[in-house]
Amino acid sequence: MRFDVITLFPAQFKALTQEGVVARALRRGIAEIHLRTPRDYTADPQRAVDDRPYGGGPGMVMQYAPLRAALDAARADAAAAGVSSRVAYLSPQGAPVDQAKIVEIASASGWVLLAGRYEGVDERLIEDAVDEEWSIGDYVLSGGELAAMVVMDAAIRLLPGVLGHADSAGQDSYASGLLDCPHYTRPETAAGRGVPSVLLSGDHAAIERWRLQQALGRTWERRPELLRKRGMNDVERQLLDD
Ligand code: SAM
Repeated sequence: MRFDVITLFPAQFKALTQEGVVARALRRGIAEIHLRTPRDYTADPQRAVDDRPYGGGPGMVMQYAPLRAALDAARADAAAAGVSSRVAYLSPQGAPVDQAKIVEIASASGWVLLAGRYEGVDERLIEDAVDEEWSIGDYVLSGGELAAMVVMDAAIRLLPGVLGHADSAGQDSYASGLLDCPHYTRPETAAGRGVPSVLLSGDHAAIERWRLQQALGRTWERRPELLRKRGMNDVERQLLDD
């Protein structure tokens, strides 16, 4: 899978590309991240890519031409590598990105991600060259870089061969529409508190039942709307009642 990112701050992506799960996926060639800055696509002697907004008001707006040239170059490079990419603009006004959307994103062969800055990008660019707008939450970041990293991290960890244990993404929160169950590790007693005894029982069926019950209970308490959306079978309804 290939991501091409258009950003004014490529160095920020070191947070994702130098260590951790995504860095390992890049080293293994399971995913690729290509960064390019629109400053390389402007004729402005100062390499400026923003200007004041028409109509006045605070802030600056990223200009059409350098962003369009950077997007076109990214798509052409991806196409030359045999990857057909759609363009997504990270924006607080975009469609909310949830785990189902991440699964969809991870199933594509490539994306060009546009990280905005300042007041955002010239609207005509969105109309002409952007296929989708994605928001990572109802709050405003200073730039789209963190949002792009959030989406890439969540998508790349789903790719086959990225996580060590084959099932570990499948058991995470949201994978089955539920929040994850609680986890414990050694020592058996920490700050005077023990571990639920079923986890020490060696009874795998009982452990699975307990984990499902915890996941159902947590989801019911913390995110009841998720449970309503997902629904429950008779066994799960009984477990939640117990
Ligand atoms: N004036 C814009 C608005 O109110 O919709 C906000 C611009 S914001 C300061 C600068 C950039 O950060 C945006 O162009 C976008 O790329 C990114 N951004 C901010 N919040 C975001 C969010 N919740 N999700 C995705 N991207 C976001």
